[in-house]
Amino acid sequence: MKILVTGGAGFIGSHTVLTLLEAGHEVVVIDNLVNSVVDSLERIEELTEKKIMFKEMDLLDYEGLLSVFAEGRFDSVVHFAGLKAVGESATEPLRYYRNNVAGTLNLLDCMQETAVHRLVFSSSATVYGASEAVPLTEDSPLEAMNPYGRTKQQIEEILSDLSASDPRWGIAVLRYFNPVGAHESGRIGEDPKGIPNNLLPYVAQVAAGRRDKVTIFGDDYMTEDGTGIRDYIHVMDLAAGHIAALDFLVPRTGIFRWNLGTGRGSSVIEVISAFAEASGRPIPYEVGPRRPGDAAVSYADPTAAFTDLGWRAHRNLSQMCTDHWGWQEANPEGYAKTADHAPPASCL
Ligand code: NAD
Ligand code: UDP
Repeated sequence: MKILVTGGAGFIGSHTVLTLLEAGHEVVVIDNLVNSVVDSLERIEELTEKKIMFKEMDLLDYEGLLSVFAEGRFDSVVHFAGLKAVGESATEPLRYYRNNVAGTLNLLDCMQETAVHRLVFSSSATVYGASEAVPLTEDSPLEAMNPYGRTKQQIEEILSDLSASDPRWGIAVLRYFNPVGAHESGRIGEDPKGIPNNLLPYVAQVAAGRRDKVTIFGDDYMTEDGTGIRDYIHVMDLAAGHIAALDFLVPRTGIFRWNLGTGRGSSVIEVISAFAEASGRPIPYEVGPRRPGDAAVSYADPTAAFTDLGWRAHRNLSQMCTDHWGWQEANPEGYAKTADHAPPASCL
């Protein structure tokens, strides 16, 4: 298939682009590089020895986007592009709604205009809010607790209405749990700007000596060691989930929702220990107050994805930490921040 990947230069997008290329698909990436650099795509071209068509493009540029669709003749779209920092979404809600919701509306308009009706959308377990009725199934109530999560929930509602309005659409909504790790080559990985918001990248930077210690956000939860529990999933397992969803959609229409998680929860303390083990480095930590809005426990029931797609996560926490460390150690400052980011790939 010829597949348009929005946000394909980012963390999950880049790993999925690599997996799509390896599965034999042709890939066109659009990204405005607000949270990524094109080096990720260059490295994927090196790893796969395949070309990626890249266009620097903002989803809010409707005319530009339409011209990409008019030229592209895509079979499917995989839609990663979005802003994702929970804290920032609370201080800049309009920017988040405009970028994520209005950006998605532009994308859907262009798809409709050019008769592309197959979409895989990056949603998030954040749509379940702080629900502690674990494991979370696709039927668990949606109650996003911050503007970022509400953009995902609203987009899911828009996609439901769209699917109901026109039977030609085939839509997969993938609710990711906590994506971590990196490609086993250590050439591509997560490259957060500034201080990482998420646990794994923060722990990795402590292991690398870039930060002094990890602050554990509360150790008084009703969990075995008192720290929060999440369902960490290797980004390469997640990438495989997108291929499975696309394959599922090819002969079908309608809207489908799947949790992509391992079904196994790990506490903050377990993650720190696993990372220390994988890296062979000490990971100093201190206990601080709870982070407002955090659920104590969140993990998926991934049964539906296995039943419908034949997909399940294969890599365990140790593998996630090993691969995350492989990337961190080989790229202590992430992708070269000072490089001249001329478009690498064949431009549209
Ligand atoms: P990322 O920031 O690394 O990737 C997102 C990409 O989208 C970036 O390359 C960014 O430059 C691009 N982008 C943002 N706004 C754009 C716009 N208006 N036009 C064009 N490009 C734009 O994030 P990620 O971790 O790879 O996440 C990918 C998707 O998965 C996001 O939609 C995110 O909300 C969702 N998600 C991520 C996580 C996670 O923990 N990483 C969890 C659940 C869901
Ligand atoms: N966490 C922590 N210290 C950090 C970052 C996160 O203790 O510096 C905890 C957080 O409270 C949660 C878990 O680690 O219990 C995962 O947090 P992350 O932000 O990575 O994912 P999310 O909470 O969005 O699922």
